[in-house]
Amino acid sequence: MTYEELQALDLEHIWHPCSQMKDYESFPPIVIDRGEGVWLYDHEGKRYLDAVSSWWVNLFGHANPRISKALAEQAHKLEHVIFANFTHTPAIHLAAKLVELTPKGLEKVFFSDNGSSAIEIALKMSFQYRTQKNQPKKKRFLAFTDAYHGETLGALSVGGVDLYNEVYAPLLLNVVRTQGPDCFRCPFQDSPSTCNAPCIKYVEEKFIQHADTISAAIIEPLIQAAAGMKMFPPIYLKRLRELCDTYDVHLIADEVAVGFGRTGTLFACEQAEVTPDFLCLSKGITGGYLPLSAVLTTNEVYQAFYDDYGTMKAFLHSHSYSGNPLAIRVAQEVLAIFEEDHVMDQLAAKQKLLKELANAAFDNLPYVGEYRQIGLVGAIELVADKLTKEPFPSEERIGYQIYQRALEREILIRPLGNVIYFMPPYVITDEEIKWMIEITKEVLIQFFKERGE
Ligand code: PMP
Repeated sequence: MTYEELQALDLEHIWHPCSQMKDYESFPPIVIDRGEGVWLYDHEGKRYLDAVSSWWVNLFGHANPRISKALAEQAHKLEHVIFANFTHTPAIHLAAKLVELTPKGLEKVFFSDNGSSAIEIALKMSFQYRTQKNQPKKKRFLAFTDAYHGETLGALSVGGVDLYNEVYAPLLLNVVRTQGPDCFRCPFQDSPSTCNAPCIKYVEEKFIQHADTISAAIIEPLIQAAAGMKMFPPIYLKRLRELCDTYDVHLIADEVAVGFGRTGTLFACEQAEVTPDFLCLSKGITGGYLPLSAVLTTNEVYQAFYDDYGTMKAFLHSHSYSGNPLAIRVAQEVLAIFEEDHVMDQLAAKQKLLKELANAAFDNLPYVGEYRQIGLVGAIELVADKLTKEPFPSEERIGYQIYQRALEREILIRPLGNVIYFMPPYVITDEEIKWMIEITKEVLIQFFKERGE
């Protein structure tokens, strides 16, 4: 479709995230008409394998008949209702189910409507807890380098990716920032499969200095996703939990991206056997259908908001669409699919296949610094020098160029800087996994051949 044709579609007035009108001239947005399974189809019938689950939300395929049916039925029954002093049975059931499935000790569920809101809620709850527990000095947060927690101002403040933060710096909270785990370029020359997380010492140093002013530490368990699928072992999370206990700091686990099976267990925290004080969930919770998020916390936290005298201590965070019945009914269906189809058991074989094929395809390529994988999330770290791990300069936009090439070959692999990754819907078949790896390899080889590398 040409730029002129797009203008005829009146795209002149639509503003997409992460792109400008200038981009549209050389690379117009692809107009998607429908989806089925892992495939998206544009208006001309051209297909794309959605290897990134449409920003990591889709689990059971596009236009999944079972989920669509549940949604349609709910729409005919109750589309929405104010969620203060009113409730509905899908919400009651979903809250109970989430408590059953998440790590032991999380007993209360607070619903909202997107990942960033979940982060805001966890930060505010932790802070208000401190106020109501007479710990007024504890009003800062410990955040990690390369963290990403969303794009509202509180969430941006605890994020550590300059690309998103820099321009808003004057507006952001004053957080205590610590160096996060960096397994690919490990400063201790350790291996994530055997290490005892020596880099946790950076957190401990910050706690020793500042714990009396820190309310909570916030982390993406096992995968710092937006930073380029940076992966770290469960032992790091375990040791972080221990430090939080020692220094009386809440632990906020942001499982917005990794929750609901992405890392090979239903929740990433399970692998470290930790229970956070706040668990933030979104994205996959509705299988990619509708915006919904949930923050789970402990009875201990909840009790601090309890008051015999009106709402003086209540948590006054209400969004218009809090507890939306459509989204919640869809989430119930998603959890039913997990259970009835034994999804986590089925995923084990797909994870193994992806790993075997990807290791064989990418490990020996000269510009691949590393292929890493946790669960069904696989990432290729492209480097200018395999030995020194020197990155490609960001201005070259290597990942972006490869993304464009891959689209021509019917695969949607949206990059994160120099990292190309796979995070496909769980319904991807073995054949589709094989095809995805083969085509990606061909795209990489062709691209670097043309660059003369
Ligand atoms: N936390 C993490 C770990 C995320 O990856 C994201 C979104 N990519 C968010 C929070 C924010 O979620 P949302 O985009 O729904 O606001």
